[in-house]
Amino acid sequence: MSRVHNFSAGPAALPESVLRQAQEEMLDWHGVGASIVELSHRGPEFIQVATEAEADLRRLMSIPDDYAVLFLGGGATTVQALLPLNFAEPGQAADYVLTGHWGKTAIKQVNPYVAANIAASSETDGFRSIPARDTWQLSKNAAYVHVTANETIHGVEFRDIPEVGDVPLFADFSSSIASEPVDVSKFGVIYAGAQKNLGPVGITVVIIRRDLLERAGQPRADILDYRSHVKGESMLNTPPSWNWYLLGLTVKWMLAEGGVEEFARRSARKSALLYDVIDNSGGFYRNEVDKAVRSRMNVPFFLHDEALDKAFLMEAQGAGLISLKGHRALGGMRASIYNAMSEAGVQALADFMRDFRQRHG
Ligand code: PMP
Repeated sequence: MSRVHNFSAGPAALPESVLRQAQEEMLDWHGVGASIVELSHRGPEFIQVATEAEADLRRLMSIPDDYAVLFLGGGATTVQALLPLNFAEPGQAADYVLTGHWGKTAIKQVNPYVAANIAASSETDGFRSIPARDTWQLSKNAAYVHVTANETIHGVEFRDIPEVGDVPLFADFSSSIASEPVDVSKFGVIYAGAQKNLGPVGITVVIIRRDLLERAGQPRADILDYRSHVKGESMLNTPPSWNWYLLGLTVKWMLAEGGVEEFARRSARKSALLYDVIDNSGGFYRNEVDKAVRSRMNVPFFLHDEALDKAFLMEAQGAGLISLKGHRALGGMRASIYNAMSEAGVQALADFMRDFRQRHG
């Protein structure tokens, strides 16, 4: 069996050791004689898995005790709809800073419940930058300010946590969670679909400052109420237990590898390898994102001639480098290099890109 280097944006590559452990435990989890996915979520075995996953994630991300951590189905998109339902009063504004495609999708989920105010946007710039904080037009009495920490398609990331005063900062960390040390206490809510940096698709982490749970929000069903989810310990209904288990294994792997400080160092090196090839290609490859905010997780790039795209993807696949096609919203190429992508994998891509340029330049 040979495994390729997989640059998928999500679902994304998982650490091989995690997949192997899941394989070993598939039929018989810890001597129980059954798979963890076959056992009740309320039984002692799964409760152990769930409790450890939460404790490990709290350790990995240094999540303070005054934050609740939820593990839910529905993906990041469902969270985007539940934020205004849970945390904005009817008629109250919610401020959104748009730095790419996913900020825009967040707003689509909001408008049925409250009026989203676009406080700042880099859309006219093709989402190649982050609008300077002093240009943001925040509303008075906003329920929250929402940002996308890392824009997976446009390859733009916040390097600093923006100061927004007493209004809680809500952040979509889907594509950069646990990739570097982050001061969680600066946020009201942090959320992420797990399928990029935390494990498998099918489970979403929502980290909520507990005092925000006292907000009345909008009328909503119990299953859409984060207070109930916190009280029910993410088990109001049957949770995605297999995904939770795999997330737990992935978090343990990240801790064993040295935690978020170590992954931040690796990401800096990995992304620099690719940006160097792009910037030193004499225009053969292009990435026009403001260098100060280029993503260290997703590296989008274009070939100077679109006619070469097909050959690039085919030859890359032949070299064991897959899932490099850019998102349909932007075209071109994209290399997603989350925590589970090895430095050797990124080096192989950088070498391939140089070689391809020599042959087709
Ligand atoms: N936000 C970001 C930053 C994303 O990258 C994605 C998915 N690629 C989403 C939200 C949507 O996530 P989901 O598919 O889990 O709903």
